[in-house]
Amino acid sequence: MIQSQEKPDRVLVRIKDLTVEKADEVVWVRGRIHTSRAKGKQCFLVLRQQQFNIQALVAVGQHASKQMVKFAANINKESIVDVEGVVRKAHQKIGGCTQQDVELHVQRIYVVSLAEPRLPLQLDDAVRPEVEGEEDGRATVNQDTRLDNRVIDLRTSTSQAIFCLQSGICQLFRETLIRKGFVEIQTPKIISVFRAEDSNTHRHLTEFVGLDIEMAFNYHYHEVVDEIADTLVQIFKGLQERFQTEIQTVNKQFPCEPFKFLEPTLRLEYREAVAMLREAGVEMGDEEDLSTPNEKLLGRLVKEKYDTDFYILDKYPLAVRPFYTMPDPVNPKNSNSYDMFMRGEEILSGAQRIHDPQLLTERAQHHGIDLEKIKAYIDSFRFGAPPHAGGGIGLERVTMLYLGLHNVRQTSMFPRDPKRLTP
Ligand code: ATP
Repeated sequence: MIQSQEKPDRVLVRIKDLTVEKADEVVWVRGRIHTSRAKGKQCFLVLRQQQFNIQALVAVGQHASKQMVKFAANINKESIVDVEGVVRKAHQKIGGCTQQDVELHVQRIYVVSLAEPRLPLQLDDAVRPEVEGEEDGRATVNQDTRLDNRVIDLRTSTSQAIFCLQSGICQLFRETLIRKGFVEIQTPKIISVFRAEDSNTHRHLTEFVGLDIEMAFNYHYHEVVDEIADTLVQIFKGLQERFQTEIQTVNKQFPCEPFKFLEPTLRLEYREAVAMLREAGVEMGDEEDLSTPNEKLLGRLVKEKYDTDFYILDKYPLAVRPFYTMPDPVNPKNSNSYDMFMRGEEILSGAQRIHDPQLLTERAQHHGIDLEKIKAYIDSFRFGAPPHAGGGIGLERVTMLYLGLHNVRQTSMFPRDPKRLTP
């Protein structure tokens, strides 16, 4: 057990940096035992570090006794080990390892943290595509088992790729806003959001990460809508450029079409969407909210017609939006509000917020809201407030939909929902 007893000068080389340039060097490496296979006087280990792995060979000889080979072969899978070894150029490509051109000839091996012998799930099973499991009866791992054992499930190549890409989204969000001249203090901001809703769906969590943008504008809330949409477009482009490997890794387990978007972003009005849905046989009123199946259907219709997986739906009926939403200046039944969609699912809701205390009071009363409870909010607009608009983007949903996944729990490290509080 490492209890910080000593602080040696030893340099640990990262597995992804073990390439032929390092041939014949002696290095120390820390990794997990991914697999081990004993064969006569030799033992082949695969050592893993994040999504990278290398073959390590322990062979009876000058540096290893028979006992050492046996010891190495018996270390439980997923244990963390420190290994000293010589990097050797491989005679032939080592299939199944990311470091295909080299192997590590082990001289010393220490167990740093031992895993229990029986794992609650096998990593190989956890990355197997559903169809493959169905076809030849090989095991896959169901979602509850994964989430109950999330510390292991997070080690799979798929999970590693998902969370690499997700941190890329946050980084690109920040980079884009800095380029646009925003300062991240109150908003724009990456925040933790808690929701006490009993929503048991594939897209609702009780705790999620919001990328929030609120801003003052000059004359028209579309100034804000355009900034938000462009921020998302910059994120999509950045992901496409920088995260191809991760996208492909996830696609291996969850195949999906590449994400498509237009520049500038397509903006449809709600009434146009209703017309498209009606043409497709849906019966709905002008002021009716979109049901989840209708949102999905609309996503498909928009994709067929405009070839995009990302679009803005503008001018929602006033009746289906919160009290603080600015009514439309022309048609009082509509509002200056919008949602943004990826692959037919909502990722952002936003609106121009009423900045006039009189109108805000009227709208709150209309909604039957106790004015006492929102007094501080209304009062904050009494001394000259600029017009402003904004919206919140759900990080887990964007990650899920960009990668074409089907459950938001896959893109939350330790998901919380009405039925899950652990681990
Ligand atoms: P929905 O209609 O899907 O419940 P909402 O209208 O409540 O969403 P907002 O409250 O406007 O959504 O939140 C803005 C964004 O935050 C959503 O588009 C979504 O990306 C994200 N979001 C909202 N609620 C959740 C949740 N429970 N879990 C995960 N993400 C969420």
